[in-house]
Amino acid sequence: MERPVSACCCLYCQSAKKMGKKSKDLIIIPESDPFMNIGEIITADCANGEGLRVSIFVSGCTNRCKGCFQPQTWDFDFGKPYTSETENYIIEELSKPYYNGLTILGGEPFEQSNQREIVKLIRRVKAQLPDRNIWIYTGFTYDKDLVPGGCRYIECTDEILDNTDILVDGRFVLELRNLMLRFRGSENQRIIDMKQTRKLGEVVLSPLNE
Ligand code: SF4
Repeated sequence: MERPVSACCCLYCQSAKKMGKKSKDLIIIPESDPFMNIGEIITADCANGEGLRVSIFVSGCTNRCKGCFQPQTWDFDFGKPYTSETENYIIEELSKPYYNGLTILGGEPFEQSNQREIVKLIRRVKAQLPDRNIWIYTGFTYDKDLVPGGCRYIECTDEILDNTDILVDGRFVLELRNLMLRFRGSENQRIIDMKQTRKLGEVVLSPLNE
């Protein structure tokens, strides 16, 4: 996969700049060699989705929202490498009978390298624990950034979204912060019913927005 080296602060662009590439040069992202760091896993979490959840916070975010409550997670190297042992632990924990589902947040799950690890985790959850639902939080906008032609649409984005039950999308906007909101931080963010959205081909909001 190719992408332009820009003013972006992501790991790829930073690496490319170190290699002396110019702003319009292209660099190759090795699809066969994805990697991801993970900052935290919260078990028995009831704050980031409905019911009891395993919540994982992946590292790396290029959104840089003003007022972000965890800017340490912008760094793609924050936390520890996500390994097969990490994945096994998540599956083992999620298999306990009291869990409703998995929540993936960050950082930014839809940064390219993160998507390539997340899609593998989602495949395992769907194969081994099909009754667990999946929520994902993103600072990107679904119908602008995560659809064909969007800035974070890659070869596995559709597979992730097809297997997501709820997507909470949109940057955190400090001026629109509302502490009364459930499952989101600012009023511009949307809780999207992804099953209905994918079925109908248009954004369908969850009743949880009300
Ligand atoms: S998308 Fe989330 S993690 Fe990234 S800067 Fe915005 S609030 Fe912070």
